[in-house]
Amino acid sequence: MKPVIGITSRYSSKENKYNLPDAYTKAIQRNGGTPVVLPPLYNAECQQLYDLVDGVLFTGGPDVDPILYGEQPLPGQGWIEPMRDEFEFELAKIALAGPKPVLGICRGLQTLNAAAGGTLIQDIKSQVEKPIKHRQEAKAWHSTHHAFLDKGSKIHEIFGEDKVLCNSFHHQACKDPGKGFKVTGKASDGVIEVIEYDSSVWKLCVQWHPEHQDNPVMNKLFKAFVDACKK
Ligand code: MN
Repeated sequence: MKPVIGITSRYSSKENKYNLPDAYTKAIQRNGGTPVVLPPLYNAECQQLYDLVDGVLFTGGPDVDPILYGEQPLPGQGWIEPMRDEFEFELAKIALAGPKPVLGICRGLQTLNAAAGGTLIQDIKSQVEKPIKHRQEAKAWHSTHHAFLDKGSKIHEIFGEDKVLCNSFHHQACKDPGKGFKVTGKASDGVIEVIEYDSSVWKLCVQWHPEHQDNPVMNKLFKAFVDACKK
């Protein structure tokens, strides 16, 4: 049996529609998992959904409401979707406490970090001194900056390298890691690109979008996640 991977999805309150780039489901499928999409809802049965899957992938999307991590919104903070925040925070708390692997991508990293009590940089351009370009204009399959990886970390073990070239589509980032998270990868400007949860279970978050990079390097990350979900 292939492991079933629950994938959080986007929601538009402007259009009353769910959507999810198919790159996520394709990345899970080609690396040995069976994807199922989890729609955000108010008062969702998050524990029941968690019980149905073998691992959870928290995906990219709009900004996390800064009120949820104890900050007032700064002018550079962007679009928020309150229903998705509520759903994903509850699911994140269950997933961080639970026995199943977790992968966070982009907003997924930010959601898991904030749900663990961490904080976010609301807008890199206005809050980071001399930032590099984190919102690339090149296509998503193309990598534009390096993430420098800590030796001895899970991410270093997966790639087997001190640095990895990644794509970048974010204006927010982890500021203070939440309880249980440690930083294991950064860009050259100090912006956090990888956090790992202190657990014997595979729980790791990246700030870039490996799902758009069907290449031997980024497939290693999905393969490691899906393989961990088999155990
Ligand atoms: Mn970046």
